[in-house]
Amino acid sequence: AAATPEKDVIIIGGGPGGYVAAIKAGQLGLSVTCVEGRGALGGTCLNVGCIPSKALLNSSHMYAEAKNHFSEYGIKFGDLSYDFTAVQKQKDTAVAGLTKGIEGLLKKNKVEYVKGWGKLVSGTEVEVAALDGTTSRLRAKNILLATGSEVTPLPGVPIDEEKIVSSTGALALKAVPPEMVVIGAGYIGLEMGSVYQRLGSKVTVVEFLDNIVPTMDAEVRRTFQRTLEKQGLKFKMGTKVTKGEVVGDKVKLTLEASKGGAPQTMECDVCLVAIGRRPYAKGLGLDAVGVKLDARGRVEVDSHFRTSVPSVYAIGDLIPGPMLAHKAEEDGVAAVEIIAGKHGHVNYATVPSICYTHPEVASVGLTEDEAKAKGLEYKTGKFSFMANSRARAVGDTDGMVKIVADKKTDKLLGVHIMGPNAGEMIHEAVLALEYGASAEDIARTCHGHPTLSEAVKEAALATSFGKAIHM
Ligand code: FAD
Ligand code: NAD
Repeated sequence: AAATPEKDVIIIGGGPGGYVAAIKAGQLGLSVTCVEGRGALGGTCLNVGCIPSKALLNSSHMYAEAKNHFSEYGIKFGDLSYDFTAVQKQKDTAVAGLTKGIEGLLKKNKVEYVKGWGKLVSGTEVEVAALDGTTSRLRAKNILLATGSEVTPLPGVPIDEEKIVSSTGALALKAVPPEMVVIGAGYIGLEMGSVYQRLGSKVTVVEFLDNIVPTMDAEVRRTFQRTLEKQGLKFKMGTKVTKGEVVGDKVKLTLEASKGGAPQTMECDVCLVAIGRRPYAKGLGLDAVGVKLDARGRVEVDSHFRTSVPSVYAIGDLIPGPMLAHKAEEDGVAAVEIIAGKHGHVNYATVPSICYTHPEVASVGLTEDEAKAKGLEYKTGKFSFMANSRARAVGDTDGMVKIVADKKTDKLLGVHIMGPNAGEMIHEAVLALEYGASAEDIARTCHGHPTLSEAVKEAALATSFGKAIHM
């Protein structure tokens, strides 16, 4: 294999962590190569994650709104139907356009893009098995690992991506299944479960624990589950699936109570396994070079994203922290800033989480239970969208804003929003938390009227002064 001239940094993986790091490295004047094996940039997020799921969530939301709610607004029409092939095509077009866009951005920022699978040969060398069949060896002063994550398999329930699917198969179904079982009431289960429920599938979500999305604030999570049930999603809580097999056109599942008990059976047309993701480092050669993993298979890094091999850095889903695209992006920027001798840093305490169902659920900072577990003296304030004029005007009133703040100092600890556009609204709270604001700071900030964001101000009033204006 021919050796190439030494670069400042080679990035392995072109997902939101890797490609953003590559662009930033180019902007900082570093010479950089980005190695990506899937043949398209954007990683899990753009190709089989965030973006295609949001396209399907949007199409299915519009259909469900028309079917279930347009009459409430006085809008009438004749037959309503959808063309699922066209729905899928819109999603594919959005994805294709965006991956091409990233390729353009890499070029613009002088990033060399190598299509192939990279493997560490040493702390400064990467062997690439290119997609065109050739092999080459690249050299750099620094290597940044950004190989992301893969679906966690469920023993006894083998994924074939047609009948028993992961999120990847669920995003690419050719038809809407009459009955679907989703294993795992996390982000993927609730988002993809919502998509197919809106399009007419009977969806049952089987969850091991007694709660959906365990990381959400308990009060918000309970209201959220009731809202999803009202929409038609069914939940089987405290239950585990022990076996799944395809028999003819059907998937036969064996389940039992999480604590153990008599086996039950269930049948469906498609089963989605969505019990989490795990770091992906297959074929990366970490062992041979001495890059250490933790007990959960994540690459160990210090506060500067440096692995146990000093010239090798790692970011994104491959390392500890929330497995989210925006967190991977922040990691990527900070890591190359550090490589360039600057002072990159990411504050994981202010990374927002957003579930893009309808209503959306968005949160940042501590939940009430987390504040309690930390032994903090805290207070809370709430405001319901039922009392928000904009939500009433547009007939979209499910949800609330809940704020957790320090009892004495009034400093914000966490903000939790369930409501329409919660994923957009959360960012004033993210900024407030990042700047160490108090609930009163938000309460005294003028918010446009009539907006959904006024509910955040009202919840802040309730937190800081004990009373909201409109409730
Ligand atoms: P990845 O995006 O996984 O990218 C890693 C890339 O590295 C891949 O393209 C892979 O092909 C490549 N690679 C791996 N090994 C090699 C190698 N040896 N050589 C070359 N290339 C290699 N997060 C959100 O924040 N918001 C969402 O709405 C959201 N929705 C999601 C929906 C679904 C269905 C899924 C599955 C995930 C979703 N996520 C979402 C999570 C998000 O996709 C990940 O957190 C994010 O993609 C992680 O970025 P990354 O760059 O670390 O890794
Ligand atoms: P998750 O961790 O969000 O949820 C997994 C759920 O499965 C949990 O509720 C867990 O208790 C349950 N579970 C685990 N084992 C089980 C079993 N044997 N039987 C039944 N239930 C079981 O994982 P996910 O939904 O697969 O998503 C994977 C990753 O992708 C997450 O890290 C998530 O952050 C990310 N993601 C984010 C978004 C978003 O930000 N909107 C959307 C999709 C995915």
